Amino acid sequence: MSTARPAGPRFRTDPAALDVVSTAIGCATWPDLAAAAQTCVACPELASTRTTVVVGDAPAGARLVLVGEAPGAEEDRTGRPFVGKAGQLLDRVLAEAGLDRDSVAVVNVLQCRPPGNRTPTTTEAVRCRGWLDRKLALIEPALVVTLGLSAAVAFLDRGIRLGAVRGTVHEVDGRRVLPTYHPSAAIRFGPNGAPLAALREDLKTAAALLASNSHTTQH
Ligand code: URA
Repeated sequence: MSTARPAGPRFRTDPAALDVVSTAIGCATWPDLAAAAQTCVACPELASTRTTVVVGDAPAGARLVLVGEAPGAEEDRTGRPFVGKAGQLLDRVLAEAGLDRDSVAVVNVLQCRPPGNRTPTTTEAVRCRGWLDRKLALIEPALVVTLGLSAAVAFLDRGIRLGAVRGTVHEVDGRRVLPTYHPSAAIRFGPNGAPLAALREDLKTAAALLASNSHTTQH
């Protein structure tokens, strides 16, 4: 287990990011947060190009949170996270690991789709961080699994290589964070590629950690 500090808060001198933090902290429940997030304009380009703000799924009692990168076209259209091709693969790999998508919370580093599915900028990730932190505080998961590099660097140091940090638990500000590959990488490298094998293995590790945790802790 290694210890690292999240990259986000160190960069929070941006007034728009601070506004998000103060609004998000004032949200006492998930429905409060979901309503407040719909009017967020912290990232003007994203606010003007999105169809909807994809807040995420937070089933009651979820002990696992998956953190992806940002909504894609299908997610922007439907308002739900991971419903496109990557989401369908994710659901299958979760089921193989014995994890039911309907009991898992799913959020993203960004709540709004970057135009053309480009990678989120650091400024966008920092501005959206207050929402992400508040979501984690409201859900109180036993384990956070990050999907892909953007989500991993939101919790670990910026210079990391995903291949070097995946599959092991990192203690970050009192949270257990397990980085793995993004299902889009698994699709890109194909059924025999290393990312799919790693994603499968790491979600099995997550399931085992949750099972052993539920035997030792009262919830
Ligand atoms: N990719 C992500 O990172 N998140 C989604 O919600 C969908 C695709």
